[in-house]
Formats: sequence, C-alpha cells, structure tokens
Amino acid sequence: MRKKTLRDVNLKGRKVLMRVDFNVPLSKEGDITDDTRVRASIPSIDYIAAGGASCVLMSHLGRPKGAKNKTYTLRPVADRLGELVKHPVRFVEDCIGAEVEAKVAALRPGEILLLENVRFYPNEEANDPAFSKQLAKSGDLYANDAFGTAHRAHASTVGVAQLFKDRVAGFLMEKEIEALEGLLAKPERPFVAVMGGAKVSGKIDLIKNLLGRVDRILVGGGMAFTFFKAAGLEVGTSLVDDELIPLCRELMEDTGAGDGRRIFLPVDCIVASAVNAAAESREVSTGDIPEDWAGVDIGEKTVELFRRELLGAKTVFWNGPMGVFEIPKFAGGTRKLARIMAEITKRGATTVIGGGDSVAALNQLGLADKVSHVSTGGGASLELLEGKKLPGVEALNDN
Ligand code: AMP
Repeated sequence: MRKKTLRDVNLKGRKVLMRVDFNVPLSKEGDITDDTRVRASIPSIDYIAAGGASCVLMSHLGRPKGAKNKTYTLRPVADRLGELVKHPVRFVEDCIGAEVEAKVAALRPGEILLLENVRFYPNEEANDPAFSKQLAKSGDLYANDAFGTAHRAHASTVGVAQLFKDRVAGFLMEKEIEALEGLLAKPERPFVAVMGGAKVSGKIDLIKNLLGRVDRILVGGGMAFTFFKAAGLEVGTSLVDDELIPLCRELMEDTGAGDGRRIFLPVDCIVASAVNAAAESREVSTGDIPEDWAGVDIGEKTVELFRRELLGAKTVFWNGPMGVFEIPKFAGGTRKLARIMAEITKRGATTVIGGGDSVAALNQLGLADKVSHVSTGGGASLELLEGKKLPGVEALNDN
C-alpha cells in the first residue's frame, strides 16, 4: 500500500475526523433502501473505537446544491449506523460551527459523532479553504474512507486533508486502491477486460488506457455497435456513437486481427423491434441485424466465446452490462457474465468489478461476495483505471 492507513498511526486518545461515503439511496419516505455504504465503513469505525479514539464522521448525501434541505439530512444514517455498531452514535445538525465544536469537545474515546451533510454548504464542492479550516476543527487526525468521492477535489476530501499532518486511508479506501491499482501495476496474466454499457463515448479513455495493459478486451453492450458500424456491418437502429466510428476503426486496426487480435466483439446478439419489454425479439448473427431492429443483448455464441476467453484469464476487470439489463428479457447476457465471473473466481482468477450496473447484476444474483473485489466507486474507479490521479487519494500521506 503506497499510502498510510489507520494502521500506521497511533489512535489512543485522539479524535479522528473521517470522510465516509454515506451517500445512500433513499425512498420517497426518506428510508434507507440500501445500507451497503454504511456497512462498508464499519471496519474503519470499529478499528478507530477499539484503538481508543473518538470518531467524527462527515459525508455528503444526494445533491442539495449547497443549501440546507431536510430531504438530504444524514440523520437517518446516524440512526442506522447506531443499529450496526456497538458504540454510541450521535448526530449534530450542522457540519461546522459552535454546536459542532461543543459536541466534538464532549466526545469520549470510543464515541462516534456524525456531522450533517457537508453539501449543505456550496463551499464543500468549491473546496473553499475557509470552510476546510472550519471542518478541520473537528479532529486532530484525518482519515478518508470515501473512495467513491476520491475523484473530486472537495473541501472534505482534499482541502481539509491538507490541514492535517496525519492524513491516512481508511480500510475501504485501502481495499479499493489495492484492488484497482493492482490491476494497473502487476496483473497476473492473461489479463482480460470486459467492457459493456451504453456508449463508447463515456469510456473511450478507459478503453485506450486498458488496451495498453490488457491481453484482451471483450466488448459487449451498446458500445459494440459503434465497433460493428466501424467494421462496415449493418447495425439497424442499435445505439451508435457516430463521431467515434473512425476511432473504433483505428483501435481495431491497431490491435491485431485473427488469432492475434486483442479486441473481441460479439458474434451474435439479441435484436428487438423496439427497446421495451413488449417488443418482439430474436437472436441473430452480428452480420444479420435487420435494418429496423436494435441490438439489445449479446447472444448465446458470444457468451460461450467470452466464457472461453475468461476461463483462460488470471486477472479480469469487468465494467458495464452486456445488454439493456433493466428489461429482464434482455438481461440474459449480463446475468450469464456475472455467473462466469463467480465461476472463474472460484477457479483462482482475480476478478474486479467496477461500475454501478455490473455490480447491480451481481447483487441481483447474490454473487457479489463470489468475486474478488466489487468497487464501491463507479466514477472514481473508472478515473483511476483511465490512469488519472485521484485528488482524494493523492492528498493522503505516502507510506
Ligand atoms: P453505462 O452507464 O455506460 O455502463 O451504461 C449502462 C446502460 O447501458 C444500461 O442502462 C443499459 O441498459 C445500457 N445498455 C447496455 N447495452 C445496451 C444496448 N445494446 N443498447 C442500448 N443500451 C444498452
């Protein structure tokens, strides 16, 4: 680990100000519909409490646009956290100011205080130094366990960190950095990436950076159709990024052909007369897409082709669904890929899954704990794999 972690500092008697990612999904009634992110922070919180320190937690929730807004209060998260940990959890209705200072001063070792949503102030996203100074009053050691926001240079992720001598990674942050940087640094080969999702445009930097590092890229999902169009195939009404056709053509030409090729595209796909649950659909070879139909999932032969490639891989990164998986009858390819991920993990491959939709597919099948690492940070994990430095990670002490 190239950054210091909670393990590298003396905690006894100290106050740890820790940035966590409690940006949980809420129902219309304001109930937490998925507490995965709260649970993910518990190893760090327990460790801090067991080490004889108190813990002040700060997070954002939703997009309150820099104003106080009850819809986005973190109070229900404090209640939920209180049910999940053995230590007392308190809450304060602000993240800076006199009331916060009083509550922080009263904290005893092992106690936890959650501050109100940092995005109730526009200064948070502006990374305002004066605001960072206010936040910094709530601790004498800074920790960051919010990998999901590490790609944003905000006050709670960067500005405040820079005001502390000790600024370390929490254990979730550590796990994410090790898993994702491990893919770039020393992947066991063959290293295969599986890319899916809607468009090539959002992932072009990722594809380019990975192409220099992986042995193969298997492309599925909507993005495959821009490659098909670049190869001169009929793609019907499938999703295509027209302006990226030349680039896709170039990528295919530069990365070999025949057995030596590094970009693998689907050989068949499910096509539908429209992209909805009621539409007619059938399986065709990729050369036979009818001109008024759209490709909505990978076909059976492609699943087999991808499976064969993945069975030989030692390291795998997967991002993005293989089809319009929100519609159950077009979710087959994505679900089969999720099962293949579990299968190859069992056989000894290192499998890292990044991005919301592929993670959702694993969760639907109850397979999230059957792969090596599921990233909690969609945008952050993609930026890291694009080769960018994450400001929230860089702000921490080097090891
Ligand atoms: P992304 O956020 O880029 O990973 O894209 C995820 C979205 O891609 C999901 O909402 C899928 O429905 C969509 N998607 C996957 N395959 C296709 C396809 N063949 N046509 C249209 N959308 C697709």
